Amino acid sequence: MYHGAQDGWVEVVSGVMFSGKSEELLRRVRRAMIARKRVQVFKSQLDDRYGGVFRISSHDGSELEAQPVSTSVQVAELVRPDCQVVAIDEAQFLDEGVVRVVNDLADRGVRVIVAGTDMDFRGEPFGPMPQLMAVAERVDKLHAICVVCGDLATRNQRLIDGEPAPAEGPTIQVGGAESYEARCRRCHQVPLTTRHQTELEIGEASGI
Ligand code: ADP
Ligand code: ZN
Repeated sequence: MYHGAQDGWVEVVSGVMFSGKSEELLRRVRRAMIARKRVQVFKSQLDDRYGGVFRISSHDGSELEAQPVSTSVQVAELVRPDCQVVAIDEAQFLDEGVVRVVNDLADRGVRVIVAGTDMDFRGEPFGPMPQLMAVAERVDKLHAICVVCGDLATRNQRLIDGEPAPAEGPTIQVGGAESYEARCRRCHQVPLTTRHQTELEIGEASGI
């Protein structure tokens, strides 16, 4: 863990889905509770994969109560003045304002633990995660196991009816018919649709 002389810093736990971000966040929160710190746990309301919006659950089944939030302003409003540790899960779904909120909390002496997937299904930076990783004192990038080849997985593979989803789908599609797999760079597939392909070809032809 980060050990500066003063309290107040930002830790980011990032990586692909199934890499153990929620497990790691829960572990850090439990240890802070054992140390008798005043802890508050938040979770983006968009994610309700398991057991409703009031819990953080990891894929291994362990869980902890969390306050649901849908904006960074809500986080700022809900943090109590005497809180010492703030944890936020699924931070990729929050707005850019979360960067300012976690920085202000850290400046006030709060230890902030932020977990979120750093890339969307296309392999592009996800929401405020790049900025959060930049301002953090510590960043841990976790990996899962590629379900295709067994190598380290760094990418979120979106599947629709078992097939790789095209690049032009919406970035956030919670509760839809799609599913996700952890995959390595080589096994990750993001097919271009005809429209995207045509745009690329026009770009190439005109030297863009
Ligand atoms: P995240 O928050 O990053 O999505 P979780 O903490 O919820 O991850 O879940 C991590 C757990 O998921 C692992 O400990 C493991 O038991 C399980 N798991 C399922 N599929 C995979 C995979 N492809 N690679 C690694 N772990 C996996
Ligand atoms: Zn692979």
